[in-house]
Amino acid sequence: MNIEKFLKTIKETKLFTAYNTNVDAVKYLKDEDVQRLVDMFDHNEIIERMESYPRIIKDPIDFVARLVYSIKTGKPAEVPMKEDENLQRWFDSIKYDEERMGGQAGIVSNLMATLQINKIIVYTPLLSKKQAEMFVDYDNLLYPVVEDEKLVLKKVREAYKNDPTKINRIFEFKKGLKFTLNGEKIVAKQSTRFIVASRPENLRIEIKDDVRRFLPDIGEMVDCAFLSGYQAIKEKYNDGKTAEYYFKKARDDIKLLKRNKNIKAHLEFASIPNINIRKMVVDYILSSVDSVGMDETEIANVLHILGFEEMSEKILKNSFVEDVIEGAKILLEKFKNLEVVQIHTIYYILFVCREDNPLSNEELEECLEFATILASSRAKLGNIRNIEDLKEGLTVDHNKYGDLLRKIAKEHSNGYKVVLSPSRYVETPKSTVGLGDTISSGAFLYYTSLLNNKRKEK
Ligand code: AMP
Repeated sequence: MNIEKFLKTIKETKLFTAYNTNVDAVKYLKDEDVQRLVDMFDHNEIIERMESYPRIIKDPIDFVARLVYSIKTGKPAEVPMKEDENLQRWFDSIKYDEERMGGQAGIVSNLMATLQINKIIVYTPLLSKKQAEMFVDYDNLLYPVVEDEKLVLKKVREAYKNDPTKINRIFEFKKGLKFTLNGEKIVAKQSTRFIVASRPENLRIEIKDDVRRFLPDIGEMVDCAFLSGYQAIKEKYNDGKTAEYYFKKARDDIKLLKRNKNIKAHLEFASIPNINIRKMVVDYILSSVDSVGMDETEIANVLHILGFEEMSEKILKNSFVEDVIEGAKILLEKFKNLEVVQIHTIYYILFVCREDNPLSNEELEECLEFATILASSRAKLGNIRNIEDLKEGLTVDHNKYGDLLRKIAKEHSNGYKVVLSPSRYVETPKSTVGLGDTISSGAFLYYTSLLNNKRKEK
């Protein structure tokens, strides 16, 4: 595979991305860190809290209980914390190892700026100075502002406002991490992370009216839009606004972006614990985009919403790629607006498209191979800081199930274009946060680039 060829393919592409950015404060947990955390509390009380399984972190022991649960089961989790100054102070007293960009729109815009695509316009409702500093320092990374009734694109690092900062605290741990709780030795089953998410009341997932008026112009300036962050919409806000209000607005944002030019829009599904919110993402957003990216749990959840309970349970229980493919075909049948359903799991990334998709199987495969290399580079190095880093990802081999997975995908393609690329699996990843966003945006951007390049050749 030729990295230069990949980069040349995406070079002229212009991207719009919204809505979510935040600062990730990351702590890489060691045995003694977790031991110290659990020893701050009565061990029996922690066990009781684990049983009650708090869904919102209201005090530090809720956090410790959910963290221990996550380590014990090896399952990643993201739990929101209550807005409370004392609790915030408690979390601030922990010494974090690094601060870095978080949120799909933030991660994707930094990645694409680093890959030196032509232009990225990123919109995020809150842009504090600290948040702005998390963006990489490239001239192709722009933020829309309105000055004297005119749309102006400013370098995002220079466009900050007097906004609050949304900080997520991320606790990463490695497989084998161990500590003792009430005499029981607990060992981490997997390398993964536990996220304490902040949900500031004044953060609304929307494009503010000043910039919103110019969305048709912004759409005209780009080729594609990568949209995510809907999982942060709350059911109800203190001022009486509801999730429905924000979802209607978000659906109209897509229409506005597409008004002057038929750009491709991608929904990155993300994990959405609240079932009502998840359903609204399906009803309002999935029905408005050209492309969707998700993992196998998310497609199972969507199928459940659509009434395919049996298929949903099969996917959750067995993780068979053939079921995932059938599930993706159902989405293509239900949502005529969709032209690409993209699913990623730790073993593969998959495109399911209709037979009449303008790209050939080889071209679709190239999109996935590019995305896979991005993921292995980020898994290995923790981040992609320059183009040279992609060579690291290329040194990682496809996982051992690759040939079998490819064969199954081929066998289940009847009537559709089904292509699969096995992951280049890094055994001990430096970090796992943002891999899903990296792989999805890579595949989508490459897809749009190939379509565009084809159009230009004609
Ligand atoms: P996750 O965010 O954990 O759902 O991972 C997203 C995607 O990144 C997966 O679908 C894989 O394709 C890829 N990925 C995850 N872990 C690794 C790893 N250790 N090495 C290489 N790729 C990975």
